Amino acid sequence: MVAGFGQAQAARRKSERRLGLLALPLALLVFVVDTFTDIESAIAVLYVLVLLLAANALPRAGILLAGGGCALLAVLSFLASHWTGMDLSSILRCGVSLAAIAITSVLLRRDHEARALLVSAYGALSRSEKRYRTMFEQARVSLWEQDYTGVKQALDELRAGGVTDFLAHAQANPGLARAMAAHIVTTNVNEATVELLGASDRTEVLGPVDRFLPVGDTALLQVLHALFEGRDRFEGRAELTGLDGRPLAVLLGISFPDDGLGFDQVVVGVVDITQRERTQEALLAAQAELARAARAATMGALSASIAHELNQPLGAIVLNAQTCLRWLRRDPPDLEAAEKTVERMVRDGKRAGEIVQRTRSVLVKEAARDELIELPQLVEEVILLLERELSASSATLITDFAADLPPVKAYRVGLQQVLINLFTNGMHAMAATAPAARELTVTIDRPGPGKVRVAVGDRGTGIDDQDRGRLFDPFFTTKPDGMGMGLAICRSTIESFGGALTARNLDEAGGAAGGGAIFEFTLPAAAKGD
Ligand code: ADP
Repeated sequence: MVAGFGQAQAARRKSERRLGLLALPLALLVFVVDTFTDIESAIAVLYVLVLLLAANALPRAGILLAGGGCALLAVLSFLASHWTGMDLSSILRCGVSLAAIAITSVLLRRDHEARALLVSAYGALSRSEKRYRTMFEQARVSLWEQDYTGVKQALDELRAGGVTDFLAHAQANPGLARAMAAHIVTTNVNEATVELLGASDRTEVLGPVDRFLPVGDTALLQVLHALFEGRDRFEGRAELTGLDGRPLAVLLGISFPDDGLGFDQVVVGVVDITQRERTQEALLAAQAELARAARAATMGALSASIAHELNQPLGAIVLNAQTCLRWLRRDPPDLEAAEKTVERMVRDGKRAGEIVQRTRSVLVKEAARDELIELPQLVEEVILLLERELSASSATLITDFAADLPPVKAYRVGLQQVLINLFTNGMHAMAATAPAARELTVTIDRPGPGKVRVAVGDRGTGIDDQDRGRLFDPFFTTKPDGMGMGLAICRSTIESFGGALTARNLDEAGGAAGGGAIFEFTLPAAAKGD
């Protein structure tokens, strides 16, 4: 484009120079006619033609010089032909000619300036276009140019037809989003896109984009929603299907024109995160495996320790029970002696209880490697870990973190596990909620001095009144494939850090389930010097 522009410029300059050369003989002709004929009219006005011919061939300063030259010739002619008989009308004619020459010179100079500005702006535009093209072609990120005019028009028509909530409308018309995707047309892609989609050349990729969008991916709906709402950009995770059928996880970035023009050339950036997600999945699986192994080891150690320590009081209880039986079987039964043995049994039973309690707290303490934790940062980490699950569940994540939160002292992995459990439960609880209404809210605030609170709310089924008391019991579950250990472990983890975990329904005033649930835990803020 720049080369084409340069050639056209050179050709134009050449023809202007040729025209400029004609100006000289014309000036001479006007001078001769003006000086040596006695035509009674302002012949010198014709110098204007000379200036018009010469203007484009001259530099800016040259125009004024040429104007001056013409004016000088006009005056010379006037003096030569009217030296003897100077009258008012001939002076006026000369004046008119000089004024015309002066005005034309000034106007031509201005025109010259405007043209120079235009040419330099056009050159800058061309260079910028070239830079953009080079970046587009050479970027390692996949870039697409797409025509959104059809979709934009369809969305505008929906709005004009009275639709205000696009997501609700799309839900009521299930085929709508895909039908619209057929109107998003890819007009150009770079080499990185050809590679990403496994195409052999870019023509395989051009055309309607819908064939690369797997059915059921919600990203398309979100893009259309952003466009409907008039937003100037969209960023989010999406899925694509390669030409060979490979599923691809990508991050999309789309900038929509904010002036209402240019929807025919919207640039879409696509970053392939398939590998990253696989690695993350493997990491999560390894983490879960590790946690399971750690739990199994803890349980093993716990049961071995309990068995060992409980042997003695249990043996004593059995012995006392046998003695008690003997006292009772006597004729007459020795109730006083029997009572004493039962009292001993109660004492040993209590001791056994204390042993269980102590072993448990010793084990929990040993497992924990406490550190100072910034809760917002930890929550962000968990959101990243669950990015894929969150996107698959179509839940919108809303976070609200108070400013200046103090850190807490806890075992990072333990707290992470608690958050993962609460997030996952929230997503499960919203399985039957309409996708557009699925909201997972995470807030962190300070409920009082020295305390930090994390609340995870959802818009799911809520908690049934009859389940309320059993929610945190081990093995309580309402899911067909549930274990019922998640909340029990969460509660004992939070309690081991000196905090408390509770649950309530979102619509607690109404008391009814169905509006979602909030699980929240408070932890003591870390003391200074911790
Ligand atoms: P699991 O998830 O294996 O069932 P949990 O201990 O995590 O075990 O949860 C126990 C039960 O608590 C669940 O089966 C469910 O009935 C209920 N529950 C947990 N979280 C929520 C929630 N966010 N909304 C409604 N009910 C929930």
